[in-house]
Amino acid sequence: MDADVVVVGAGPAGSATALRLARAGVRVTIVDRAVFPRFKPCGEYLNPAAVAALERLGVAAEAAAAGVTLSGMFVAGPDGTAFWAPFVAGRGLLVPRARLDALLLAAAARAGARVIEGCRVDAVHPGPTPTVRGRCSGRTVHLAARLLVGADGVRSVAARWAGPLAPPVGARYTVGAYFEGLRVEGPRGDLHLGAACYAGAAIYGGGAGNVVAAMPAGWLRAHRTVEGAFAAAVASLPALAPALAGARRASPFVAVGPLGFVRRVAVADGLLLVGDAAGTIDPMTGEGVALALRGAELAAAAAIQALAAGPVPRRALAAYERARARAFGDVWRTSRLLQWVVRRPRLLPGLVRRLAARPALAAGLLAVASELRPGTHLLTPRWLLEAVRP
Ligand SMILES: Cc1cc2nc3c(=O)[nH]c(=O)nc-3n(C[C@H](O)[C@H](O)[C@H](O)COP(=O)(O)OP(=O)(O)OC[C@H]3O[C@@H](n4cnc5c(N)ncnc54)[C@H](O)[C@@H]3O)c2cc1C
Repeated sequence: MDADVVVVGAGPAGSATALRLARAGVRVTIVDRAVFPRFKPCGEYLNPAAVAALERLGVAAEAAAAGVTLSGMFVAGPDGTAFWAPFVAGRGLLVPRARLDALLLAAAARAGARVIEGCRVDAVHPGPTPTVRGRCSGRTVHLAARLLVGADGVRSVAARWAGPLAPPVGARYTVGAYFEGLRVEGPRGDLHLGAACYAGAAIYGGGAGNVVAAMPAGWLRAHRTVEGAFAAAVASLPALAPALAGARRASPFVAVGPLGFVRRVAVADGLLLVGDAAGTIDPMTGEGVALALRGAELAAAAAIQALAAGPVPRRALAAYERARARAFGDVWRTSRLLQWVVRRPRLLPGLVRRLAARPALAAGLLAVASELRPGTHLLTPRWLLEAVRP
């Protein structure tokens, strides 16, 4: 046995799980195909739930030092109406993913996790004697453990046992890059909503920022190149276009997708999935990293409990599935509701104007999307009255 637990993937979900397990005295090995620091396409906006999870891990100060702090989100609509939605509690962060992911992995290593970088896992075998097979520096390596954790992102190898997934309905594709010379005061975390697409902008200050535009698949085909699709998306977002006018691109464009709501069965005999490997949402209001870090808390707790009982059959991990549904149900539902609204060009401008005119409404929505308030907050008489009064 190489370890009690082998974690595949060292993004936020995998590193946070390994860190928690190592601190609990579990022998854990974490494997990633990349060598860190590595690039990960992302809007780099961490909502207050993500920052609270970093605080619980004891790495929030380090993350804040690598980025900038936010007290709310700047939101703009298709007609240029814009407003500032403050966080009702806590703080957000903008942090380059290369730095965030590297510092989380380093914390896991300091806690005692064995780290194997530059090792692509090509087969994951759950079951009573779980193993993974990887290619490390040209050699084939087999690792055996009592429990495997699949944290290898959207295209998870660890999740293949569950069969192929249908692509998310109405999924979007994204094109993004770093820029210099942005004409906007930072720091600021922006969400720009358009009739066909949206964009997130992480404005670090000093003109530097990361802009990611999300668009339907047909948009990419129609504009032929990623440059063309990005330019068309920005041109359709009236509050973003002036900020980018004359800015210099500081990195190549990266296109990824499809992005949308997918939920997987997250446990099998000797295996559990965490983070994007267990399911994704379109992270329009920056929910992805928070779900990865909070998922790691649930996964580590479930793993510690299951390992104490001996072998780890699927039924020993069933509580993890229930805990995920309880913990993330409100975020999943709010995200799908917001997605439904922003895909309705007739509803969207009116909604943004209403939110701009009624700050309590916007703050309430953001609070639920950021896990600061339960979903039932949107059913309170005060919020509903604000939403429907003429
Ligand atoms: C364009 C875009 C913008 C986004 N913007 C935001 C945002 O602003 N805020 C937010 O909170 N979320 C955002 N998200 C979502 C967020 O990036 C993810 O939800 C988050 O990264 C999930 O973390 P993870 O650890 O599950 O997976 P990942 O971060 O994807 O990490 C998976 C790791 O597994 C490794 N791996 C994969 N396959 C293998 C293999 N076969 N063998 C070994 N290692 C492997 C990878 O190298 C990687 O290090 C965005 C996503 C996209 C695509």
